Amino acid sequence: MAGENAAPGAAGTEMKRVVVVGAGIAGLAAALRMHQHGWDVVVVERAQARRSSGYLVNLHGPGYDAAERLGLVPTLASRDIGFFTSILVHADGREKFTIPAAVAQAAVGNRALSLFRGDLESALYHAVADLADIRFGTTVQAVTQDADEVVATLSDGTCLRTDLLIGADGVHSRIRELVFGPEADYQVDLGHMVGAFPLEQVPEHVPEGAGTTFLGPRRTAAVMNLGPGRSSAFFTYRSADPNAELALGPATALTRAFGDLGRGVADALRQLEADPAAAYFDSVGQVVMDRWSRGRVVLLGDAAWCVTVFAGYGAALALDGADRLGAAIAAHSDDISTALDSWETSLRPEVRKRQALARKGMSRFAPPSRAHVWAGELMLRAIQLPGIRGLVRRSIQRANN
Ligand SMILES: Cc1cc2nc3c(=O)[nH]c(=O)nc-3n(C[C@H](O)[C@H](O)[C@H](O)COP(=O)(O)OP(=O)(O)OC[C@H]3O[C@@H](n4cnc5c(N)ncnc54)[C@H](O)[C@@H]3O)c2cc1C
Repeated sequence: MAGENAAPGAAGTEMKRVVVVGAGIAGLAAALRMHQHGWDVVVVERAQARRSSGYLVNLHGPGYDAAERLGLVPTLASRDIGFFTSILVHADGREKFTIPAAVAQAAVGNRALSLFRGDLESALYHAVADLADIRFGTTVQAVTQDADEVVATLSDGTCLRTDLLIGADGVHSRIRELVFGPEADYQVDLGHMVGAFPLEQVPEHVPEGAGTTFLGPRRTAAVMNLGPGRSSAFFTYRSADPNAELALGPATALTRAFGDLGRGVADALRQLEADPAAAYFDSVGQVVMDRWSRGRVVLLGDAAWCVTVFAGYGAALALDGADRLGAAIAAHSDDISTALDSWETSLRPEVRKRQALARKGMSRFAPPSRAHVWAGELMLRAIQLPGIRGLVRRSIQRANN
């Protein structure tokens, strides 16, 4: 296929080309996998440079397996945060009770990584940076396709002709809008906001190697101290009007929702005030679609199926989805339509399960009432009992199978 600078392949044949939109976890993983299968890869990223912020992501089950197949585990293992002590606190920051790191470790097992989102993105970026043409500060303005090719018109006026276009441009995907229709047709709002940001300075009043969590009716605030450059804060709260919260911006909205809390939270909010742009701040909504591809355009990651922060599995699913997409295309390299069908069939059950778990788990993050807070705390205390710990481990293992 003739594209702008189409690359020659072995024996003089032209290499197949894929354009990946979005250099997040899904996009970079897809770029790596497609390159491993011999495709010429262009990545188009709207941000001017890499955005390495974000809170924690967990890789276990299929997400860990995918990281292994992508060859990322040795690099990621050196950035593994491991397990840390969780301290449940009152609104003023006084300790309620502590869950030792060993309890979480016993529940999740050894084939698991706990990482800053930025560290995972960075590992992917370094794995693929020399293998793909990555264009920052660029987006896609139009997409047309016929049976043989897709043409993507970029914001710099370039036209890229390609065999496949992967829209990995996140929950507010432009590719979804251009090819499948408006966001409102696919977004299911879960009525919550999420804010997460790195802390420049080590948070006050949080012991090193630990995280404090305040769990109150309709909201949760967590502040983690893993030392300089590795500390962060996470907030989620219920909201009937996400657009009004977004209009306020992260610093004002989070201070309104959490400004009454003391110690670690107060310090984190002060730090946010100094650099609001560092925050990831969004409404929480799932993306639900009957079909993730149309012709030669396929959506991947949050763009296709956002499971939300409440699933604790968005990054894992982005890796798993990218890995499986590459494998399906390698298995059916001359038949994109069959490749995309078989990929979607293999991945749908996992996505359905994770979306359902997220909706079920929502009340743990922002319990609707004091009674729910109390019940949640009772469960957290109970997890520390050896018999219950085994039950929790088995239920996590079941969710991963
Ligand atoms: C900076 C950042 C911080 C995050 N922090 C958290 C967090 O703390 N907690 C959490 O649960 N989730 C967070 N997320 C979302 C989380 O990364 C995803 O749920 C998950 O990793 C799946 O990733 P994804 O690659 O599908 O989407 P994303 O991680 O959202 O990546 C999408 C990429 O596409 C780019 N993009 C968007 N629109 C366009 C466009 N029109 N043209 C070109 N490129 C485009 C974005 O800049 C981004 O790089 C964050 C996302 C980002 C971008």
